[in-house]
Amino acid sequence: MTLNIGVIGTGAIGQDHIRRCSFALSGARVVAVNDINLDQAKKVVSDLGIGAEVYADAHELINAANVDAVLVTSWGPTHEEFVLSAIKAGKPVFCEKPLAVTAEGCKNIIDAEMAFGRRLVQVGFMRPYDQGYRALKAAIDGGRIGAPLMLHCAHRNPAVGESYTTNMAITDTLVHELDVLRWLIDDDYVSAQVIFPRTTSRSHAKLRDPQIVLLETAKGVRIDVEVFVNCQYGYDIQCEVVGETGIARLPEPSSVQLRSEAKLSNGILVDWKQRFIDAYDVELQAFINGAKSGNITGPSSWNGYAAAVAADACVAAQESGAIVPIRMPERPAFYNPA
Ligand code: NAP
Repeated sequence: MTLNIGVIGTGAIGQDHIRRCSFALSGARVVAVNDINLDQAKKVVSDLGIGAEVYADAHELINAANVDAVLVTSWGPTHEEFVLSAIKAGKPVFCEKPLAVTAEGCKNIIDAEMAFGRRLVQVGFMRPYDQGYRALKAAIDGGRIGAPLMLHCAHRNPAVGESYTTNMAITDTLVHELDVLRWLIDDDYVSAQVIFPRTTSRSHAKLRDPQIVLLETAKGVRIDVEVFVNCQYGYDIQCEVVGETGIARLPEPSSVQLRSEAKLSNGILVDWKQRFIDAYDVELQAFINGAKSGNITGPSSWNGYAAAVAADACVAAQESGAIVPIRMPERPAFYNPA
């Protein structure tokens, strides 16, 4: 059976996922599309030549008889409403991060999903599907560096627009680290602090950039994450885990090494879409397979909630300058890994 997918939001990642489901992955096709900008939705359908129906109303798309599963790739503040609507319709739903813009919103989704009685939601945290992060986790879990003690991480983008604010460094950017680092070291955060170094002259009035986020975990691991979204030179994700007997580092993406003009050099990616292109493929194929078999196992609503709880604390820490406690409620058995 082919999974018929409806996509809400045809911006950057929406288009990328539509292309992926239509041409790169197996077992699915996009039959319905919606965007608040109807002309854009029509253009995407026509440019890709996929013949999907364009809906003016997202809820109508969710409830359409021929839509088996939903992809939510619209603007973050709309996610909660559309995910709740998909759960109400009993349809599997893949939601790009953030699951909801507040922890409370994520909790509403958890309550609805648990009341439904079966997992329907997968959150678009793709890094656990990245080969590099998987190899890093295998080294840690295999005891190659002993118990992790410290993590040094960086999340750097070449530049961001004027609408990107100081808080978004947490809610839009750091949120990927907040998810993947819990998974990587199998731990939970207990506190957060944010430090602001000298601000780059390449930033703008609404953004203090860079920032250093300091996290402490329940096992006592200390994590520093540099978030620098106007670094100019490229899209650069770093993660170094210092353990009791060694250090494990996230591999660099492969690139041709050049010996030329008296230099030895490797290119650096500039586009997030390229950096995690394989991981996006694997995560969406996992969702398609899970939706078809009735067994969704990718990042859950609980992962979305845990990241949101930590993000709320980091935003409070940005504002107060203090060390802010992170209080994660106990995970319900419903979300325990199979
Ligand atoms: P984008 O280019 O701005 O696209 C969002 C689209 O959703 C726009 O076309 C927007 O229309 C539309 N939209 C807004 N409100 C809507 C509504 N009520 N109903 C239907 N459509 C609506 O943003 P993006 O970069 O694709 O990001 C979309 C989401 O994916 C964000 O939550 C972002 O954080 C996430 N994302 C995740 C990753 C990842 O690595 N996992 C990467 C990129 C983005 P207008 O432009 O007219 O407002």
